[in-house]
Parts: sequence; structure tokens; C-alpha cells
Amino acid sequence: MRVGAHVSTAGGPITCMDRAEAIGAEAAQIFLTPPQQWRSSKVEPEQAEAFRARKATSSVGPVFVHGVYLINLAAADETNLTRSTSSLKSSMTACSQLGITGVIFHLGSHKGQGLDAVFDQICRACTDVISNTPDDTLLILENSAGAGGTIGSRFADLGRIIRQVGSPRVKVCIDTQHSYAAGYDLASAEGLELAMTEFEQEVGFDQLVAVHANDSKVELGSGRDRHENIGEGLIGVAGFKRIMAHRGFKDVPFLLEVPGFDGNGPDEPNVTMLKSIRSEIEAGA
Ligand SMILES: [Zn+2]
Ligand SMILES: [Zn+2]
Repeated sequence: MRVGAHVSTAGGPITCMDRAEAIGAEAAQIFLTPPQQWRSSKVEPEQAEAFRARKATSSVGPVFVHGVYLINLAAADETNLTRSTSSLKSSMTACSQLGITGVIFHLGSHKGQGLDAVFDQICRACTDVISNTPDDTLLILENSAGAGGTIGSRFADLGRIIRQVGSPRVKVCIDTQHSYAAGYDLASAEGLELAMTEFEQEVGFDQLVAVHANDSKVELGSGRDRHENIGEGLIGVAGFKRIMAHRGFKDVPFLLEVPGFDGNGPDEPNVTMLKSIRSEIEAGA
């Protein structure tokens, strides 16, 4: 299991490698464009070549892109739906150019109508994105915390979408904080086992390509998306030790998206925390 982190790309995508290395991250996640804006991810051939060359010299990998937060595959109006699929298409095309695994993104919100009302539209949108992007990139659905009608808070909902789209390029990222907020008690041994059994049945560990490793600022089942530093939240170090020891997560990169002990985002102390938990597990402690 590799311990990674979301890192900044201020100064261009290639700069993520230095930042990941500086905090000891073994894998990375980046934004290609500002997450609160609609912008197309345009990569020049020289930029792609330089990125691939830099990545080849680094032990950091895999690298993932996180999609912009505005994406909503359940959008009621055609304009926002098209913006959403175009954004995914352009970032997946950029991933292919840069040698990045794929795009992890939030499906969006059904705004209280329920999944059934938007299910067909979401699956059609995923198919559209998959059909119009290079074969070597993955479209990775992230589970949601659940508040505000956000789609994918139940593992069964993700499984249902994946089966309907029916492409081997559609994968899943589990966010530990979102899971906890959605009512999966990853902080307790029994809760973790129940949640993972459900995931195995509804989605399957072979579909899991990344974990967002975040502690939770907010209580179990609160539905709210509020990340905390590892050990400072309600999942805690003991919780992460059980999560990281679970067989389903053995070969899956853990990517931190935490506020940071100094408030500057994922930092070396959080990376070190996960690495030392991993060492304890490996030592059988
Ligand atoms: Zn996340
Ligand atoms: Zn989140």
C-alpha cells in the first residue's frame, strides 16, 4: 500500500512531483484546473513530454486527477450537464497525455429527487465520457457523504451505476470521511467489517483503485463532508490501523486530503502518521 497525498500544481502540473516528494508522499492527486471553475484542461505536447520524463525519474506514483467540484451528472439543465461531461472529457484526455491513471470525481446531486429520477441520465453521461476519451484512462466514481442529495453515499448506488455503464474503465474511490459521514462506522471493528462486506457485495474490491484517507471532523451519519487530520478526528489512529490492515485495501493507494496541521493541506506529519501505522501493521504490532 502506498501513502500519497493531494498536492498543489501551482506553477504547472509538473510541479506536483517536487511537492509530493517533499512531504514523503509515494502517490499523488492533483487538480488540473481550479476546482471551483469551468475551464478546459489543455496540455501541450511539450508539457506532456516533460511531465512524463519527470515522473519517470520519481518514485511517486500512481498519480490521479481530481475532477472539478462543479461537475453534476444529474444536472437538470442541458448546459450544466454538457459542461460536466466536457470537463471530464478534457481532464481524462489530459490524463492520457500526461500518463496519469484517471479522474476521481463527485457524481453530483439529485437535489432530493432520489437516485432513480436521475439514474439513466448519470449512466448515459458516464457512457458518453468513456466513449469519447482515450482507452488508457479511468473514470473513477467517489462515494459521497450524502447531505444535499449527493449521489453515491451508499455503496449499492455506486455498484448499480457501474453495472449499468458496463465499462471496465469505470472504477471507484472510497473516501473514508465520506463513508463515515454516510453512516458506515469505519471507526469500529464491527462497523468496518460490515461496511467492507457491503462494499465487496455491492461493488467489489477489484473495482477499487484509490482511497481518500481522511479523518472526520463530523459525527457518524451526519452526512457532511468535513475532513480532519489523521488522528485528530472521530475515526482516529486505531480506526485507521484497522482500515489499513483490511485485506480489501492491501494494494490500493491511500491519498490524503486533510487540512494539514498548519492548515496548508496534506503535509509531512499526516504522511508520516499513515506510514507509521503501515509499519506497525507490517510488524504485526
Ligand atoms: Zn475525497
Ligand atoms: Zn470530501
